[in-house]
Amino acid sequence: MTITQPDLSVFETVESEVRSYCRGWPTVFDRARGSRMYDEDGHTYLDFFSGAGALNYGHNNPVLKRALLDYLERDGVTHGLDMSTTAKRAFLESFQNHVLRPRDLPYKVMFPGPTGTNAVEAALKLARKVKGRESIVSFTNAFHGMSLGSLAVTGNAFKRAGAGIPLVHGTPMPFDNYLEGRVPDFLWFERLLEDQGSGLNRPAAVIVETVQGEGGINVARPEWLRGLADLCARRDMLLIVDDIQMGCGRTGGFFSFEEAGIVPDIVTLSKSISGYGLPMSLTLFKPELDVWAPGEHNGTFRGNNPAFVTAAAALDTYWADGGMEHQTRAHGELVRSHLSAIAAEHPRLGATFRGRGLVWGLEFADKGLAEKIAARCFELGLLIETSGPESEVVKLLPALTATPDDLDEGLRILARAVRDCA
Ligand code: PLP
Repeated sequence: MTITQPDLSVFETVESEVRSYCRGWPTVFDRARGSRMYDEDGHTYLDFFSGAGALNYGHNNPVLKRALLDYLERDGVTHGLDMSTTAKRAFLESFQNHVLRPRDLPYKVMFPGPTGTNAVEAALKLARKVKGRESIVSFTNAFHGMSLGSLAVTGNAFKRAGAGIPLVHGTPMPFDNYLEGRVPDFLWFERLLEDQGSGLNRPAAVIVETVQGEGGINVARPEWLRGLADLCARRDMLLIVDDIQMGCGRTGGFFSFEEAGIVPDIVTLSKSISGYGLPMSLTLFKPELDVWAPGEHNGTFRGNNPAFVTAAAALDTYWADGGMEHQTRAHGELVRSHLSAIAAEHPRLGATFRGRGLVWGLEFADKGLAEKIAARCFELGLLIETSGPESEVVKLLPALTATPDDLDEGLRILARAVRDCA
């Protein structure tokens, strides 16, 4: 008897073993629009993943696409390093008018290489240069990127092991609620700072996510963030907020730290800043920290001008008034009520949920359940991923432009998947 092996695809024969999302979602995608993705066999998927937060305004948003097509059609500059271009000027003006000025934020804008980890590397370098110290404090379950500096302040043991060398000059402290309220906020951190025998080198900065996206949708309380900002100010440490995943409106306000009323010294943005899924990132800092020498930090792809065009269009379209923020909060309440119903339907699963704006996590007593549910959602036509150190949290990240009908539909699929896996 001859056994014929199924044909291996070019993805399996040529692409590296490092590939990952394509394993959980084993199909070949072809087109995408708004909150839907379509595979080459004609199946439709509702997207509650949004490019890991890079597609807050949906796929191929028609307003942004028009601006991009017009720019390309007239041979606008595509690659510009850090040359001044009309596209960069238009972006900086929109960013100043719609984001910085209305919030009274004084930040200077730096364009590092176009990925999130580039923005984090620039932030860490700048903090170390300003303070003349090496040590950076990060938090348990933090995620800041895959390059070595960012990995050194990232919690996940699997990702850290990939570095292959010691990751140094980063010290983890407990994130909000890590010790389940048994210890007063920052007791340990403050004690280490004041004790000359603690072994903690004086930190240049503290880097934090207000909501840990990859770490399991852990939401810091506003009062915890204010306590952290106060500690940083008192102890002469810079406060870096990594808003790469939670910025650009994901939690409601344009910046996720607005709700806490704090003004970080340095902020990183990427993912949805271009609005269209095009690579772009920013490191923002208070003007007095702008001690860079010209060219001291650079990168060939800093000047991704098509990304500047879609970024400006996104800011002009969605951030000229408070409409997007208001809508995100309202849609977030809709998600909350569905998750509450799912948890109530299955008391023996010990489900808990948490989130802000349009980022939510659903966790079960059985840590293996989230992955099964995400796999079942895929079969039912919903793209949803898991997060947390053991992939124990179902992570909901719909587009901010998803309609209430899209949200209802996705949450109903999720409820069915939970039922099927319970
Ligand atoms: N920082 C945060 C908070 C992130 O969520 C991510 C990516 O998920 C990064 C940094 C790294 O961004 P990138 O993958 O674009 O390097």
